[in-house]
Amino acid sequence: MQSNRSLGKVILNTLVVFIIAITFSCDQKESNTNSQDIGHFDSKGKAPSEFTIAKWEDLKNKMPFKDERDFEEQKKGFIASPEYTEIMADAGHVAWSMGKYSFLLEDKEYQSIHPSLQRQAVLNMNYGLYEVIPGIYQVRGFDLANITFVKGKTGWIVFDPLTAEETARAALELINKHLGERPVVAVVYSHSHGDHWGGVRGVVDEKDVISGKVKIIAPTGFMEHAISENIYAGNAMNRRMFMQYGVLLPADPYGHVDQAIGKGVAAGNLGLIAPNVTITEHIQEMTVDGVKMIFQDTPDTEAPCEINTYFPDLKAFWAAENITATIHNIYTLRGAMVRDALNWSKNINEALYLFGQDAEVMFASHSWPRWGNERIQEVMKDQRDTYAHLNNGVLHLVNQGVTINEIHNEYEVPQSLQDSWAVRSYHGDIGNNSRGVVNRYLGHWDGNPANLIPLSPYESSALFVEMMGGAKPIIKKGQELYNKGEYLYAIEILNKLAYGEPDNNEGKELLADCYEQMGYQQESTSLRNAFLSGAFELRNGIPAGATVKTGGPDLVKAMETGLWLDFLGIRMVSEKAAGMEFKINLITPDNGEKYLIELSNSTLNNIEGFQDQKADLTVTINRSDLDLVMMGVKTLDDMIADGTAKTEGDRSVIDKLKSTMIHFDLRFEILPGTVPVGDQQFNRNPFQQDMPAVIGAE
Ligand SMILES: [Zn+2]
Repeated sequence: MQSNRSLGKVILNTLVVFIIAITFSCDQKESNTNSQDIGHFDSKGKAPSEFTIAKWEDLKNKMPFKDERDFEEQKKGFIASPEYTEIMADAGHVAWSMGKYSFLLEDKEYQSIHPSLQRQAVLNMNYGLYEVIPGIYQVRGFDLANITFVKGKTGWIVFDPLTAEETARAALELINKHLGERPVVAVVYSHSHGDHWGGVRGVVDEKDVISGKVKIIAPTGFMEHAISENIYAGNAMNRRMFMQYGVLLPADPYGHVDQAIGKGVAAGNLGLIAPNVTITEHIQEMTVDGVKMIFQDTPDTEAPCEINTYFPDLKAFWAAENITATIHNIYTLRGAMVRDALNWSKNINEALYLFGQDAEVMFASHSWPRWGNERIQEVMKDQRDTYAHLNNGVLHLVNQGVTINEIHNEYEVPQSLQDSWAVRSYHGDIGNNSRGVVNRYLGHWDGNPANLIPLSPYESSALFVEMMGGAKPIIKKGQELYNKGEYLYAIEILNKLAYGEPDNNEGKELLADCYEQMGYQQESTSLRNAFLSGAFELRNGIPAGATVKTGGPDLVKAMETGLWLDFLGIRMVSEKAAGMEFKINLITPDNGEKYLIELSNSTLNNIEGFQDQKADLTVTINRSDLDLVMMGVKTLDDMIADGTAKTEGDRSVIDKLKSTMIHFDLRFEILPGTVPVGDQQFNRNPFQQDMPAVIGAE
């Protein structure tokens, strides 16, 4: 049976889906003669093929490389870099390394990187302190996001204090060193994603926020969204981060080169201090430390809650993460609710007409600023139009019968937008964003009854492999297609073989080679990383040491009790709960909350504000103590034993409830036959294993 301690850890794991930081023990740099001559980090790694190189050369000639304005803008206002290229975490490991990407500054062209992506990866090598305009500064290259400092009358107003306390603290030290020591008087969280608030404890002391000395300003719904977006499917999202963020790939021309909106996510202490000022109006004006700001609330855009800010006296527009130097995710590969491209576009359009007519500088939480009204309007219009066209162009085709399974083959971005660097799809991917739009409006079904009850890929593939005459002809044909550079066709049949015969190593290695070439050819970091990670996992499995750096106690404290109870319902094994029926009253006196928890029909329910006088058990525990259970620091049993929690009624129902819970493990198998040795419980092939999911019962 699962202890409450591990139960708490699981909750923590799910909190940090965006804050992945892998500490993994296997040495990726070992090489053999195969890979040494090309310098590949993986002993089975291959160089770009002649077909990949031909594509690379074609793109070099076709794309608008003559337009070099981004390079001027990216370096404009540079003040200083720090002497160090690594930032250490308080825990002793490296929280952040810019140095490991230095290969991008060697003025070399890598044919294992899409030329447009290499361009973006070089642009994202900004590192240090920059002046946006006198009075507005950014530290870039200290984390995935930028941290922005606005000079008030008496101190700094910080916009978006990064992911980690350590990187945010280092950024504050850097600016104070070069521009003079000033206190932080306010913080603005532009939106609910962790790379925009996790480092807040590096720039302010919580007691100053509680006393009101320091303002923390955030959009409506911030706390709820900061926590809730990643809980229910958190373990799966964490696992999929390995794909989208290339977590297992080293920084290398053959591996991880960029993350479109920065290099990656810092691996330090993640904290959260609740805001004490909420933006409630659609357009709201506020003066903070003598700086006049107009907030534009832009819900359901890049995040469920997000605010842009205009500084009218400075003619400066802060675009939060609504406008960066890439088209963003409408559908994000790690998994998230599909975003609303049309609403996003409309919010950019509103900003264009509210602020974009006068603004002389536009800056954001990622990438680099744009100067001059003409340039700002150009970028805003291109971004507005790309999101709107994605929505409209996709639905235009959908209304003529194009399905979710074909839209990525049909949908095209207008040529004039393809020629604009500001709207290339480095973070999002055009194909998957277009499928996301279809999914948003029509869901996953394409309307064809053949796809209403699809066979599992294992069942389907076994049939295909048999029909195709077994592994031999599939590998032969796969090799033929690979030799001709027809990678998607090769993947089509080799993937069938991988599912049909998960132990066929020859097939898997050829499939990995195909994924690798596809990875080299992608402009989107999400796709590059997913293909290269697929190749890595097929070749090496999932390293046994791969774990996730969890979030901190701040996140558990901020989590609503009801959300935690919902997640217990997700962790429940229905079969184990069959026949159980009970009710528990949960009272948390310190926050005045009451919940009624009810198990019936193998389903765990909870309702806030209700109690049942005939409940089997009543548990009274302060929420501040329950936090410790949720964090895995203490068990509920410990709390009952030492009197911290009081119970009345039948205590055995707690044991019953615990007996139904399982532990989600991060390392579940995505690609067939990649289960780490000794970790057979993670094998998802139903022909070998009864339990279909990710179960590591302790
Ligand atoms: Zn961000």
